[in-house]
Amino acid sequence: MFLTLEGGDAAGKTTQAVALERWLTERGRTVVRTREPGGTALGAEIRALLLHGGEVAPRAEALLYAADRAHHVATVVRPALERGDVVVQDRYLDSSVAYQGAGRVLDAEEVRGLSTWATEGLLPDLTVLLDLEPAVARQRRGGRAAEDRLESEQDDFHERVRTAFLALAAASPDRFVVVDAALPEQEVAARIRAAVEPRLGA
Ligand code: C5P
Ligand code: MG
Repeated sequence: MFLTLEGGDAAGKTTQAVALERWLTERGRTVVRTREPGGTALGAEIRALLLHGGEVAPRAEALLYAADRAHHVATVVRPALERGDVVVQDRYLDSSVAYQGAGRVLDAEEVRGLSTWATEGLLPDLTVLLDLEPAVARQRRGGRAAEDRLESEQDDFHERVRTAFLALAAASPDRFVVVDAALPEQEVAARIRAAVEPRLGA
């Protein structure tokens, strides 16, 4: 089973991925928890280029994310799914549609097409969208300096990204569950488990 967590920065994706991994492991599943960009050695280099390199033209940025994703799916995600493991992944192709599409104003369908090609059409069984207002996300990050180039984007960028994520969820209600990420951490975790449980099967 392939589970992805999506949402803006500071929505709690990583925290919830860790909690979900623990819960699934307690239930006897073998879990591979991973992330994008940077879930492989090659991906870590691509991540560094994307987040800490210089300016990247929007199409080049989209191709770098797609390259990271292609390598990650081929070498980590598909092999894990073939073993019968549960993959819990922090970000996947919906992030590209939202960030490179709506955020950078590339054509969303073209960006999706790149990912479809890169992943040979692999879609998650379930995508949890942790939805959070950009202003609340900014408060959560507090006074600390932006960790990377993207975090320093203005609220209107993050607002476009959020709107795009919500539209993606509305367009694929069978694949998505939207959780209010402003709720307490334990409540968010409970809602995620409630969405995952019926999909666990035998
Ligand atoms: O979630 P994580 O901190 O790993 O993401 C790193 C940065 O990359 C974030 O600032 C996020 O906004 C950005 N990002 C992006 N496009 C993607 C995935 C992540 O702009 N497809
Ligand atoms: Mg981040």
